[in-house]
Amino acid sequence: MLFYRPQALTARSITLCTLLLVLPSMTLAEPSGNISKGKTQPTQDALLAQLAEDENVEDVERSEPLQDAHNAPPSEDAPPVKKTKPKPKPKTVAPNIDLKEVAPAPTPEPPKNPASGDSSGDEVQVVDKTPEGDVPAAEAPVPQASQSEAKEPLPANNLVLLDSEVLPGTSTRLAWSSNIQIAGLSQPTPVLVVNGVNAGPTLCLTGTIHGDELNGIEIIRQTMYDLDPEKLSGSVVGIPIVNLPGFQQGSRYLPDRRDLNRHFPGSPNGSLADRIAHSLFENIIRHCDMLVDIHTGSLKRTNLPQLRADMNNPTVAEFTRGFDRMAVVHSTGSSGMLRTAAVNAGIRAVTLEAGESHRIQEHQIDAGVNSLTSLMEKQGMISRMFVWGDPQPVYYNSAWVRANHGGILFSEVKLGAKVSKGQILGYIADPITNAQYPIHSTNDGRIIGMAVDQVVMAGFAAYHIGTEAKVPGE
Ligand SMILES: [Zn+2]
Repeated sequence: MLFYRPQALTARSITLCTLLLVLPSMTLAEPSGNISKGKTQPTQDALLAQLAEDENVEDVERSEPLQDAHNAPPSEDAPPVKKTKPKPKPKTVAPNIDLKEVAPAPTPEPPKNPASGDSSGDEVQVVDKTPEGDVPAAEAPVPQASQSEAKEPLPANNLVLLDSEVLPGTSTRLAWSSNIQIAGLSQPTPVLVVNGVNAGPTLCLTGTIHGDELNGIEIIRQTMYDLDPEKLSGSVVGIPIVNLPGFQQGSRYLPDRRDLNRHFPGSPNGSLADRIAHSLFENIIRHCDMLVDIHTGSLKRTNLPQLRADMNNPTVAEFTRGFDRMAVVHSTGSSGMLRTAAVNAGIRAVTLEAGESHRIQEHQIDAGVNSLTSLMEKQGMISRMFVWGDPQPVYYNSAWVRANHGGILFSEVKLGAKVSKGQILGYIADPITNAQYPIHSTNDGRIIGMAVDQVVMAGFAAYHIGTEAKVPGE
């Protein structure tokens, strides 16, 4: 978006309305070529460009400065009151599955009585004690203290999720379906659950909310398949592919061309995207104490592995400390994003960005898995054998540098490079006139995201410059 964040929603709706008005008179094949710089009178090209913008740019068009937490007015930034979790109903016991073993293809409808297979005699008894399910494991005390203060671990309760009870010390695959498809063709998406033997918080991991962002699928698989429920305190819930229809089509969007990550917490009576968002939020997200929503860059842009977090929210700021040596970009987030809705519901939530869309990138995946493993350790959920010191994250404010000319972008800098104000980051070459236009850095800082070399139009967000920031209260 060309607009600052607080007006984004209004701007977007205005943009959409304006576009609907101008569309009939437009010829898409004829770029007008004159890009107005005025913010109040965007041209047709600019309007199209805005519609094509992605969350990575508009999420942190320019992050508002960090506030001093002590002087900040007691506004929405204050940690929200944790709402009580939905009361679970009596459920069937989910089969205990070793997630490392190859699974049979899932059936469209989960079997009604799945407990006969793997469950031992002891576990089957729990089926008769369904009233205990009224106390979900996640409501047990959350161990946040350092390891040294750790007391004797409390045994976990059953985790009640998606009409199933996952017994302590077991892992399983459940299925979530938003019930928006034709019933006979309904395709549920897998939900991996590991319920530790000891009580602790519930960490949720979501991937592929944008159907073309693939690194998160593998980050979740590698993180979860290595968890031993016998050594876990708390539970981990992973949904590797939230936007299954988008994933199948290689598309960022839902079948109705909406961006799912603009519709949380959703509504049961709204648009398709609202309904899917509502179903995910009510059935799964509300059961989480912590959420990491995994994304990648979009529109041929790549991101240094980084967290997006509202550092003005002290609870969220504290949460970011657990992620190992990862860049943290301060961003208040916009309305409708999963992390924003989750924070508003009292869940500690961040977005994890890693790499590019449409690709599986080993380095980015490794960085994601490492940071999630570090987080689980910091939260007292696992203990790692080897820890290399106690690396701290680096905090950034950030702004995008945009191309002022159309042409072919050739970068001179690499992702992660330190740059100084005025430095040439790359060139736009006009292939017809042979003119070359340098793009200068607007700040001293680090390249935390950038476009890969490609044809761009004026206004295209090309380089995301992070400037190191102090965290309030330190
Ligand atoms: Zn995304």
